Order: sequence, then C-alpha cells, then structure tokens
Amino acid sequence: MLPDQTAQRRNGWQGTAPAPVGLDNFMLTPSISAYNAHIEHIPQGREIMSAAASVARTAPLYQRVSRVIPPIEWPVFADDIEAILELKRRRNAVILGHNYMTPEIFHCVADITGDSLALAREAMKVDADVIVLAGVHFMAETAKLLNPTKTVLIPDTRAGCSLAASITAADVRLMRQRYPGAPVVTYVNSSAEVKAESDICCTSANAKKIVESLGTPEVIMLPDEYLAKNVAAQTSVKIIAWAGHCEVHERFTGAEVRALRRDYPGVTILAHPECPPEVIAEADYTGSTADMSGFVAREQPGRVVLLTECSMADNVAVNHPQVDFVRPCNLCPHMKRITLGNIRLALEEMKHEVTIDPAVAMRARRAVERMLEVK
Ligand code: SF4
Repeated sequence: MLPDQTAQRRNGWQGTAPAPVGLDNFMLTPSISAYNAHIEHIPQGREIMSAAASVARTAPLYQRVSRVIPPIEWPVFADDIEAILELKRRRNAVILGHNYMTPEIFHCVADITGDSLALAREAMKVDADVIVLAGVHFMAETAKLLNPTKTVLIPDTRAGCSLAASITAADVRLMRQRYPGAPVVTYVNSSAEVKAESDICCTSANAKKIVESLGTPEVIMLPDEYLAKNVAAQTSVKIIAWAGHCEVHERFTGAEVRALRRDYPGVTILAHPECPPEVIAEADYTGSTADMSGFVAREQPGRVVLLTECSMADNVAVNHPQVDFVRPCNLCPHMKRITLGNIRLALEEMKHEVTIDPAVAMRARRAVERMLEVK
C-alpha cells in the first residue's frame, strides 16, 4: 500500500461522499492502481469517459464502502467491478471471499464471505457452475474437495500460505511413526496432500471442539504451533505440535499489545489464535475472524483493535461506523495477490482451475467432512 493510503487507512477513512467522476480525481489514480489493479498505462480520452460512466453506475456500491475507501480510489475499481458482476452472470459463477480480502472485493463482488470454516461450509452448497475463490490456494482446494463437480478457479496461483508451506505429507507420516496411536488434527491451512494424511481437520473457530471430540488423551495438531499451544491452554488433552507459523500473526508481540493499551486508553484488544501465546495472554478476547466480527457486533466496543490481517478491520468497520478501529497493519502478502484485476481475468479466461489427484482428494475430503460433522 502506498504510504499516504496507509496513513489514511490507519486513521480510518471517514468520508461518505459518493465517488467523484471528475477528471482531476481520475488522473490521480494510476499510482494507486500500480498496487491495487495493475493498470499499466495512463488512461486517456474515451477511456476516461468510460471510467467516469462506470463510477457513476457503481455509485450505490461505493456507498457500502465509502467509510474505508477514499473516493479518489474508486475510479480504479469501478470498471473491474462492473465487468466482474457481468462475468459472474455470464459464467454462472459465484465468488467466495475470505475476511482478509480488501473491501472492494469483500463488499462489492463477493457473493459469500467469511472465515475458512464458513467458506468451507458454503462451498458445499454452491449450485453455480463456477466457484472463484478470493482467498488463498488451500481455500480453493477445500472448495474443490467439498464440491468436486464444480469448476474452482483461483485468480493467482501464487496465493499460498506460510502455514500450508511449512509441512508435507511425508512430515505427517513421520509424526505418526513418532507418536503411534495419536490421531492427527490438521488445520485447514494445509495442502490437500497433508489433509489426506490426517484423521480430521479443524479451523481456528472450532479447534478445541475438534480436539476434544476425538476422546483421546493426546492428539497431534498440525501445522500451527501457536494455535496448538493456545488450544493446549484450554484443554486437558495433551497436544503434540508442529513448528509452523503464520507469517502475519507471528509478528504481533506482547510489547505491541502493551503499547496499544498505553497509547489508546480503554481500547479493547481482540487477538487471532494464530498469534503467539504471549499476545493471547495480554489480549481481552481471542477468536477466529468470525468470532472477532461477532464480538464487535455484540459488544459494540467504543474503541477496538483486531490483531489479525489488515483488511479485516476495514471489512468489519464498514458495518460498525460508531466503533473506532485502531489499525496496526500486518498485511498477508498471499491474500494481497488477489485483486479485482485478476478476479476479472480469471472469469474472462476461466483460469486458473484447481485440480486435485482423485486418490488424494478422496482421503482429504474425508478429513474435512469429519470436521464438518462435529456439532
Ligand atoms: S494470514 Fe497467515 S494463515 Fe492466513 S493465508 Fe496469510 S500466511 Fe496463511
């Protein structure tokens, strides 16, 4: 993100005016688009007129996000948004958008939004021919596992995850040899091959429930060490962890939490369970992104900070204008690979299709379905 935008986002964009369609505003956008939309030339003449028309037509959509997207940015997004809405109709496609997507994706083109658990549940019910996963690769694989007859597209194949990359199927087999008899609980932030070696999956929203549902004295919990430790602190089941970390959440520290309390008196601090245990110990509440969103809706804190990926606060802030969001910003570089531009391209060219070896898929699906069966 450009420095001036970062400052604006951190301070919380408060504008509510409809997007301007004037030339002056539009001509400022190419530098922004280099980050957000990968537009490689400066629009001229007819393109500017057409962009202005898109801005006018999408003004109602802009109203949804006017609190978190400055009007100067909207002309960069409007044309892609219109094109994506049309392509969804033409392709009979739906877009699943994770909570870490930027607001113009999350609020303006996604049909179904939520955390990994919600997206997995909803992916099963999708009736459309095509699912575009606005999130990272393991989420697209999960959608394919749960709805294998659909065409599942990921707009950028490089949208990975440090947790998923931290472990292989061979590693899981070694853990089983080392701890015979202990069932393997695998976080959904993992490849299909790793899921296939597992007994059951979990998400950050249901990890403790899944661990306790197995009725064993110990479990192997992969691959997130901090999620495993945070679950271990809440259960009598012995947890054997793996040393994988989320590169976004591992950067939060206890000192940062104390500094937030000092600098923002009265702030309520919510932390994601992928954060280190010292952060969880200092926070007021720990939960998945869905839990955090529910907390804000329920408790209506005057001032809050969400210790998770940057875009989450923007997306929650849209629905809670009365809550003051403090925004320390840790970006997930993988999530940020997904843009309106490559979602549009994915639907135009029907790429990149996610495929899974059928033998792997059958075993991985069983682990995900077992998770979904736990009430
Ligand atoms: S935020 Fe962390 S867990 Fe989520 S995709 Fe990015 S690296 Fe993976």
